Amino acid sequence: MPEERMMPNDALRLFFLAIEEVMGKDGMKAALRGAKLDQYIDNYPPKNLDLEVRFSDYAKAEQAIEDFYGRRGAKAMLMRVGRATFNYAMKEQSTVLGLAGQALKLMPLPMTAKMKLLLEQMAAAGNKTVNQPVRLEEDADAFMLIYDVCMCQFRPQHDAPCCHVTVGLLSEAMRWLTDKNFAIQEVTCLNLGADACRYRIPKTPE
Ligand SMILES: [Zn+2]
Repeated sequence: MPEERMMPNDALRLFFLAIEEVMGKDGMKAALRGAKLDQYIDNYPPKNLDLEVRFSDYAKAEQAIEDFYGRRGAKAMLMRVGRATFNYAMKEQSTVLGLAGQALKLMPLPMTAKMKLLLEQMAAAGNKTVNQPVRLEEDADAFMLIYDVCMCQFRPQHDAPCCHVTVGLLSEAMRWLTDKNFAIQEVTCLNLGADACRYRIPKTPE
């Protein structure tokens, strides 16, 4: 496992709120207990950007959801948690995702130009706020969001890419922006030994 890495309080707080929305209050408590994160029961991190919580805490909570539902069933739940995380971040205008809110959505620009702007904002927030180096690349057909470090490095090894929360979050971000659904995929994953977690965001909706 890599060296421990810190993330802002609000990133873990939003994630916990999203888990609670999907699993309910009792489910959330069970997940925190299962993850041996008892210190957070009824005591979520504060709403600020201080780097005081661990990548491994986030990873433990993800893993606890997966253990709770089983690896197959968990995928859909983790994606829902990712979608809820985006919606909370949007509602609270959290700087964790670098969201400019309605202004971007209403800009009179082609869809892919708006997608690029939002992905650039999210990447900038990863670099500036979340302590998670990330870059955006693109080709004719797709954007590629590339994370050089990820919470999945603090999880047991999987046999397929396991960052479903991020896939859900990106899916919801694109749906919110365009009112369309995009088949986003994690194509390489640090958890499996790749050099980065790479998310392919096609420029054409489903
Ligand atoms: Zn990954």
